[in-house]
Amino acid sequence: MLARTTLTRSLRAGAVVIAVGAALAAPAAALADPVTPQTTPDSEIAAVNPSLLEFWNETFQAWGKTYQPAGAVYYYDYVDRDGNTVTASCGGNQIEPGVYGEYCPADNNVYIDYNQNLDQMNQIGSYEAGALFAHEIGHNVQQQMGIPFEQPYDELQADCFSGMYTRWAVDRGDLTTDDAQQGVDWAYSAGGGGDTGKDMSHGTQYDRGFAWMQGYLQASTSGNEFDSTACNNVGPLSADQQMSGDPNYLFPVAADTQTSSSSTTDTSGTTDTSSTTDGTVTTDSAGTINQLLAMNTPTSIDLAKMLSDSAAHNASVWLAPACDSSYNGCL
Ligand SMILES: [Zn+2]
Repeated sequence: MLARTTLTRSLRAGAVVIAVGAALAAPAAALADPVTPQTTPDSEIAAVNPSLLEFWNETFQAWGKTYQPAGAVYYYDYVDRDGNTVTASCGGNQIEPGVYGEYCPADNNVYIDYNQNLDQMNQIGSYEAGALFAHEIGHNVQQQMGIPFEQPYDELQADCFSGMYTRWAVDRGDLTTDDAQQGVDWAYSAGGGGDTGKDMSHGTQYDRGFAWMQGYLQASTSGNEFDSTACNNVGPLSADQQMSGDPNYLFPVAADTQTSSSSTTDTSGTTDTSSTTDGTVTTDSAGTINQLLAMNTPTSIDLAKMLSDSAAHNASVWLAPACDSSYNGCL
């Protein structure tokens, strides 16, 4: 927790909050410690960072490459000790509050909207900030891989990367399935369209929740926790899948256990990437939960719980969140 102490002191001074790469030097034993839920965006991100860094180091190693961490995390949209609101800019352009955060290719730094994420953490849970941070680091990964920044595909791929990391961290005990639930809830809530008051530049709620879950589930479908190809084909869902009112669209796990609902050709019961993106996702939420429970494995039970919780959560909270006009732009 040394980094956390440093972090808090720096934040009060309105300065750089954490050097992302510095956590690489942390003792190996510390990396296996669970990420204790934190109460502020800076402390949560500091707690998640060592695990996230290790994930991408290992993933790049699996690709035969060397991961180059982002430079630093800066926080903005909070009032400092002198009573001034801290702002941020990327490449000479001010970053508006209300966009959660931003990876800046121009300086390789990450900028996090402090107040907005603090508010979202209070609504969703601490890992809201962790999942967002993993998304922003996903853009850092894209830059290294030469992937063009083209909305909404780059955004949805970054959501997928966030889910992919989260699953790895849950499997090794850094995070919990409660964290994972908060991660997909963040992705869903951050989407636009419908009457959310947000634009669709990053995808709709269903696009984002679905992309995040695609990453979360990729290890179980591919058998390789470092196989990023599951995130290569994420994109907007088809029109009939958008805002359908059925939160089960968020969960491509259904394609693992049920026959395709839209074609007669995919009856093998196996899952590939295309089957989770071309509309062959079941709409039978209760049936999927029951099937997962019947499989009676720790993973299937966890997924059933997530599906059930998310269905209830989305119905009550996230199906049509109001635009918070306290944030400029209301994106
Ligand atoms: Zn993004």
